Amino acid sequence: MKTVYIGLGGNIANEHGTPKAHLQNAVSAFQESAHFKNVAVSSFYSSKAYGVTDQPDFINAVLKADTDLAPIELLDFCQSLENHAGRVRLRHWGERCLDVDVLLYGDKNIENERLTVPHKELTLRNFVVIPMLELDHDLAVNGQPLKELVAASDWGGLELL
Ligand code: AMP
Repeated sequence: MKTVYIGLGGNIANEHGTPKAHLQNAVSAFQESAHFKNVAVSSFYSSKAYGVTDQPDFINAVLKADTDLAPIELLDFCQSLENHAGRVRLRHWGERCLDVDVLLYGDKNIENERLTVPHKELTLRNFVVIPMLELDHDLAVNGQPLKELVAASDWGGLELL
């Protein structure tokens, strides 16, 4: 079993529900799958859009769990949740119903054509780092304590829902 951290985000509603409902459905899917144990979920946060700014605010959360899935199987599971939510990829960094990212897979470093872990932009994003710290205040990524990043950066624009 590996402990994994999963980033959840979304900012558009569709016929399958609101962004918050997409996140809640994704959380339920992890809780109901036999491949995940000890599922814990952060608070839900609202954040300003990152990169492409002319779009609705995002809802973000982070989920932590223990899994017996291999990294690629975990990515397949995450992508199946995105597809189930009816994700339409309009533009890079643009709006989406549901985005499910593999943030950490134990302490493994993974680099292949489908997967980069730790997630490439993990430490740049307050809407990822702050919920991760909520789940484990002493969490470190490649030896760097995440709480040091919070102290050192501007975390404006993030709100607890
Ligand atoms: P995005 O636009 O963020 O949903 O990017 C999706 C693409 O990123 C997919 O084709 C994945 O194969 C790739 N990818 C690389 N690393 C990761 C990761 N850690 N978690 C999720 N997707 C990843």
